[in-house]
Amino acid sequence: MRYSKLFGKTKNDAPHDENSINAKLLLRGGFIDKVAAGIYNMLPLGIRVLDKVKQIIREEMNAVDGQEILMPTLHPIELWTTTGRDKTMDEILYRTHAGDKEFVLGPSHEETVTPLAQRYTKSYKDMPFAIYQLQTKFRNEPRAKSGLLRGREFGMKDMYSFHTSNESLDEYYDRVKDAYLRVYERCGLTAYPMAASGGAFTQNLSHEFGIKTPAGEDTMVVCKKCNTALNAELLEGKDKSKCAKCGTELIEEKAIEAGNIFKLGTKYSEAFDMKFVDEDGKEKYVIMGCYGIGTTRLMGTIVEAFNDEKGIIWPKSVTPYHVYMISIGANEDVIKESEKLYKELADAGIDVLYDDRSESPGKKFNDADLIGIPLRIVISEKTLKEESVELKERTDKEARLILIKDAKQEIINFYK
Ligand SMILES: [Zn+2]
Repeated sequence: MRYSKLFGKTKNDAPHDENSINAKLLLRGGFIDKVAAGIYNMLPLGIRVLDKVKQIIREEMNAVDGQEILMPTLHPIELWTTTGRDKTMDEILYRTHAGDKEFVLGPSHEETVTPLAQRYTKSYKDMPFAIYQLQTKFRNEPRAKSGLLRGREFGMKDMYSFHTSNESLDEYYDRVKDAYLRVYERCGLTAYPMAASGGAFTQNLSHEFGIKTPAGEDTMVVCKKCNTALNAELLEGKDKSKCAKCGTELIEEKAIEAGNIFKLGTKYSEAFDMKFVDEDGKEKYVIMGCYGIGTTRLMGTIVEAFNDEKGIIWPKSVTPYHVYMISIGANEDVIKESEKLYKELADAGIDVLYDDRSESPGKKFNDADLIGIPLRIVISEKTLKEESVELKERTDKEARLILIKDAKQEIINFYK
C-alpha cells in the first residue's frame, strides 16, 4: 500500500476529551476516527489490526470445537422480557421502535442464543456443543471515555456452550480458559485469569482475564507460581501478601480486564424452558456457559500495553503491515530502487506500507514511529551507494545497513 493513497492519515493531535493512551495513539495514527463519545469509525489501518485480532480469536475458538454463527443485532423486546433483563439491564439498553414493535440493540446474546439452541437440542446426544459469533454490541455506557476500552458500540466475540451436566461444563470451561490464555499470548500480552468470586479458589463461577499493562485501570494481585491472580478490589480486608492456594508471595500489577467467562448453569434454560431428554429418560434443564472477549477492546488493550513516547509498538502477530518503507529525496535512482523493492517484497507476500510522499524525512520517521509497524526500511542516496537499505526494528535505537538483495529474507526471518 502506498501511504500517499491510504485513506486516513496521521494527525498531530487527538480530540481534547480523549485522555486514554489507546484513543490518542489510534486517533493520531489514523487507525480510528471519532464519531461521538464511545463511537468510532474504523479506518483501513485499524481494520487490518482488528481483522488479525479477530482471526486469532476465531482460530482458538475453532480449536476448542466452537462453531461460528452470526446472530442478529436487532432483538425483539419479548426475548428480553422473558429473562427480565429488559428491567435489570435497562440502564445500558438501547431500545428502538418501529410501528408497534419494540426492539433492543443487543448488548449481549443469551436471549437470542438460548431459543436458537433450543430448536436444535432435544436429547442428551445433541450435547455438548459450543457456538460463537464475532458481532457488534451496544451498551449505553455513561463513562465512554477510554477509547476502544469502553465503547457504546463495540466488537465482541461471544461463545455459548450447552451441556447435560455440570461436569461437562466444568471440563469445557477449563478448555476455554486455556484457549483464552492462548489468544492473549498470541497477541503478545501477559494475561492472568482472575476468579471473580472474591478470594475463593474453589467453585469459581466466573473468571475475568487481567492483562498486565503499566497504565491499567485495575490492580490485580498475582501469584507467579500458580499463574493465577485476583482483582485487588475484591480483596478488601483480606491478606494480600500471600497466595491462599500455595503460600507464595503475591505481587501487585496494573491491569486491564479484557475478557470474561461464566458458568451460567440453568439460568437461561429455565427462563426459556430449554430442556432435553437425558439417558435415564428424564427431562432436565440444559446447563450453559458463556465466554466473551471484546475484540475492539482487545485492540485498545494491545496499544495500552505496547507504546512509547513516539507512538504504538505493534506485536508482530497483529501489525497492520509487516514493513514501513521510506524513500528519501527525489533522486531518480532512489525512486527506481524503492519501486523495485516494493514490488519484490509484495510479490513475496510481504505487506509493505510504502511512504512514497514528498514529505520531509523527519515527518516520515515520526509517522513510522507513531503508526508502530515493527520493521522500518529506509532507502536514500546514501544507502544506495552501498547497494543497501537501512533496517530498523521499532524497538531499536539504531538502524543497521543491510544489502538490498538481503532485505526480503531479513523480513521473512523476522516474522518467522
Ligand atoms: Zn499460588
